[in-house]
Amino acid sequence: MSHPFIIVGASQAGLQVAESLRGEGFDGPITLIGEEAHPPYQRPPLSKALLTGETTEDRLILRGPELLAKRNIELLTGARAVAIDRQASSVRLSDGRSLPYRGLALTTGGRARALPIPGADLDGVVTLRTIEDSRRIAAGIAKASAVAVVGGGFIGLEIAAAARKAGKPVVVLEALERLLARSSAPFVSDFFLDLHRSHGVDVRLATQVTAFAGDGHVRGVVTGDGKTHPADLVVVGVGIVANSELAQDCGLACERGIVVDDCSRTSDPAIVAAGDCTARRIADGTLLRLESVQNAIEQGKSAAAALLGRARPFTAAPWFWSDQFDVRLQMAGLSAGHDRIVVRGAPQERRLSVFYFRGERLIAVDSVNRAPDHIAARRLLDAGKSPTFAQAADEGFALAGLLK
Ligand SMILES: Cc1cc2nc3c(=O)[nH]c(=O)nc-3n(C[C@H](O)[C@H](O)[C@H](O)COP(=O)(O)OP(=O)(O)OC[C@H]3O[C@@H](n4cnc5c(N)ncnc54)[C@H](O)[C@@H]3O)c2cc1C
Repeated sequence: MSHPFIIVGASQAGLQVAESLRGEGFDGPITLIGEEAHPPYQRPPLSKALLTGETTEDRLILRGPELLAKRNIELLTGARAVAIDRQASSVRLSDGRSLPYRGLALTTGGRARALPIPGADLDGVVTLRTIEDSRRIAAGIAKASAVAVVGGGFIGLEIAAAARKAGKPVVVLEALERLLARSSAPFVSDFFLDLHRSHGVDVRLATQVTAFAGDGHVRGVVTGDGKTHPADLVVVGVGIVANSELAQDCGLACERGIVVDDCSRTSDPAIVAAGDCTARRIADGTLLRLESVQNAIEQGKSAAAALLGRARPFTAAPWFWSDQFDVRLQMAGLSAGHDRIVVRGAPQERRLSVFYFRGERLIAVDSVNRAPDHIAARRLLDAGKSPTFAQAADEGFALAGLLK
């Protein structure tokens, strides 16, 4: 019997590789190896509906073992890959087994970045990446007298919103001058600052966290200005580190992640990689690191095709979403490098879209509670079409009309 395609990492990207291999017509053996105890599940609700109790863990499962078995995809849960032998084309697991592969996909994702400061190991100082983390945070919120969130990015703000919904005092401590600084324009940062403050979140900008205070259990967060913010639950949301050690140790090119091209190919023709563990080299030579469901899915499709020797480049505009209080933010494109923004809609009604232009070219759109703008924006960006500044600002102008 021929060796299987092996996929290391049984989550959004890994599942996609497996199912796309079937979609591409491959009917041989596929083995999906995952360190977690669960079958593949979605992470976005971990900081949203699961935290607020609006959904349950079982509803997060993307594909159960029976469905995978039906598609003849072997799922190994609780199995950790510890080394890759490229010469022998095999993967070693932590239990000592060595599994030969005909082709290998690395979809190992990322892990929450820790803050290496005093007190980081106190009970009650946590990060969020897995179902277990979310469970721990939900329980922590329920019994907390005060919650501190370190980091004003998407995950931090979503957790802050969930804790406020539960009626707890919440402080958000952000080192930079504004929220969401890495992904959005100041206009959008200001909108979210106002949103959180209006719901009673104490947001502190330009505030460095220097230590966690406590004795066994955390009691507060110490900041550079010498203050201690009382908290018995502290969630650190300061980004992720790509799980690229397996790749690095076997000599694959890595730089902030496993380096892949538009077709998810690594520097070894027998190995592809997809999702949060990757950094994609795009046409202008820059490395793009995206952490999103869309990226995991699209790169997963490309990776499956590449394993079969087919080139299926991922070139669609990136998109992402975030839910905070009664606001859904949807982002399309990449706003870095914009030189002008145009706003459509009404910030006071919490319904608006921000159009980012470089010159006269539309490069990104952030929409707040305006889903039709987001859908149109993705299509415009993929088609390389731009509204004029005046059309972008005009609520009465149908963006979709530009696509005809
Ligand atoms: C709280 C939270 C909220 C989010 N919200 C959004 C959102 O609103 N919108 C959005 O688009 N994206 C969101 N994301 C990001 C999105 O979930 C990720 O981009 C996506 O999960 C990436 O999928 P992945 O398969 O690449 O990696 P992961 O989901 O990280 O999965 C990697 C898997 O590989 C396993 N693994 C790692 N190393 C090994 C090994 N050596 N052996 C075996 N298994 C291994 C890990 O245990 C893990 O199960 C959110 C993420 C989090 C954590």
